[in-house]
Order: sequence, then C-alpha cells, then structure tokens
Amino acid sequence: MKKPSDSLEICSKHCGSKCCRSTPPALTKEDIDRIEEKTNIENWYTTIEFNQKTANVVAKKNDTDDCFFLSDNGLCGVYDYRPLDCKLFPLFVQIKKQGEKEYNVRWLVWYCPLTENKGIEVLKVESEKLLISILSENPDQIFDYQEAMYTSRGYKKKHFFKEECLKIQKSDSES
Ligand code: SF4
Ligand code: SF4
Repeated sequence: MKKPSDSLEICSKHCGSKCCRSTPPALTKEDIDRIEEKTNIENWYTTIEFNQKTANVVAKKNDTDDCFFLSDNGLCGVYDYRPLDCKLFPLFVQIKKQGEKEYNVRWLVWYCPLTENKGIEVLKVESEKLLISILSENPDQIFDYQEAMYTSRGYKKKHFFKEECLKIQKSDSES
C-alpha cells in the first residue's frame, strides 16, 4: 500500500488493498530489526526456501492470504515502519553496482489502480528518492532486498519499465 495522504482512497476504497492480500512482502534484516523494535508482536514473519536459498517474508494472517499486518479496516498496521518492499510498491528495483557510487537500476512495475491513477513516473519520483537515500546511507540494504525478492519470487509477474544509471552524489548522503 502506498502513501496514505494522496493514495488512501485509491488503495483502500477502489482497490481493496489488493497488494496486501497477495504475494507476502520480502524482508531485509533492517525491516525485521525495525519492526521488532517498534512492536512486541511475535511470529509475524516466516522463512521460505527456493533454489537452496532462504528468504524471510511477512506471514499470512490466520488461514487467509492477507498480510499479517493488514487491519480489518484495510489499512497497514505498521505503515510508518513497513518493509522496504511495501515502501517501493508498486515499483520494484533490480540493481547492479557499476562503479564507486554508480549503479545500474532496472525498474519494474505492478500495474494497479494506483499506477493508472497517478502514473508510473510520478510514483517513480517517490521511490527513487527512497532508493537514493538507501544507496547513500546503507547500500547493502538494497542488495539484501534484491536477494530476498529473488528468493521469494517477488519479481514474478512484474513488468519491466525502465533501465538507467544512477550516480550517487556526495550531497545525497548529506541531505
Ligand atoms: S495494488 Fe496498487 S492500488 Fe491496490 S492497494 Fe496496492 S498499491 Fe494501492
Ligand atoms: S506490511 Fe503493511 S503495506 Fe506491507 S503488505 Fe502488509 S499490510 Fe500491506
């Protein structure tokens, strides 16, 4: 689910929080540490295995396909500290380091009411800001995300959108 300020109506009313009721979000180590620090909830994530690798993903709620954190009102119960996978959604990133502070970035998208309503480029601006701040402060996190996404098959059925070179300036880490 995206930003509540301008997307709440689309996500919860017009879409029914569909993305929170399908593929479980992949988790980075930072996601797990942050959510554990902010909540006292137990058993909220699970480990899955694929191609002899393991990844952590958010558990399902009871016997449904709903995300463990999806509230009855269709909102995210951990919105402010939700997983990176959810923060980027409905965009997805595949990344390769090209040089010192230089990255090849492939953007993928999940077409949904939000992308149709706001436009992918507008959503990309928000996701790119987040990506740049992570690459400036803790680039390992984005590679951890990517690994978890591959292992949990989170890129499946997502569509290639754009490929570009992203150069992280010194000022990006200072902002
Ligand atoms: S699938 Fe798209 S429109 Fe629906 S809740 Fe998720 S981000 Fe919002
Ligand atoms: S953590 Fe929140 S935003 Fe992410 S899938 Fe679950 S309910 Fe949706």
